[in-house]
Amino acid sequence: MPTNPENSLTRRDALKTIGAGAALLSLGALATRTSAAEPMAEKYPFTLPKLGFAFDALEPHIDARTMEIHFTKHHQAYITNANNALKDYPALQGLTPAQILQRLPEVPEAIRTALRNNVGGHANHTFFWSVLAPGAAATKPEGPLAAAIDKTFGSLDAFKTQFADAAAKRFGSGWAWLGVKGGVLSVQSTANQDSLLSDGAVPVLGLDVWEHAYYLKYQNLRADYVKAFWNVLNWRQAGANYSAAV
Ligand code: MN
Repeated sequence: MPTNPENSLTRRDALKTIGAGAALLSLGALATRTSAAEPMAEKYPFTLPKLGFAFDALEPHIDARTMEIHFTKHHQAYITNANNALKDYPALQGLTPAQILQRLPEVPEAIRTALRNNVGGHANHTFFWSVLAPGAAATKPEGPLAAAIDKTFGSLDAFKTQFADAAAKRFGSGWAWLGVKGGVLSVQSTANQDSLLSDGAVPVLGLDVWEHAYYLKYQNLRADYVKAFWNVLNWRQAGANYSAAV
């Protein structure tokens, strides 16, 4: 009599889960390197980070109402969903968001999509808030990041054009990034809440281009929101992210 395929799948998944959990834990213990580029060192249960500025501090470029809803509702929802997904997986609860996102293929299939979307959402938003600043902490890149942008893109303006293009062409919801992979800078775009970390890259700066990030103020004019981003981008933090990544 054939075994019930559902039962054997369940058992195989359970074995895989235990194996993946053990492997992840040992990898986690080895990953001691921390940097400014690591979104955060916190572990389950995840919580909202401390926002370094008031909701209205980025006005008029990012309005207070959008900031408040984005932070307290959207970001919180990713955190709640990530915690729910991890609640029955104690072996994964000892990992940071970055460690989970770097090893998605190893996590149990049953929660892989939930972690990709919600740990991704938590990490992306925590990173995003960290590269925003009222009045922008520096008006342009300096030091090694400035040199790398000039070398890679030709000029700061050429970089901005390429970044705005990536942000505009991301169909639907997602992110535009400046990232580093293997020491090389590039403009990237990810769909939904996919993280550069899952691709072995590290974000230097990033922009949320989901409609929830700009619709109240900019409606359909995503390009205007992208243009306004340069007024609130914390280049000092981006420079620190770059230096830590290379
Ligand atoms: Mn968002």
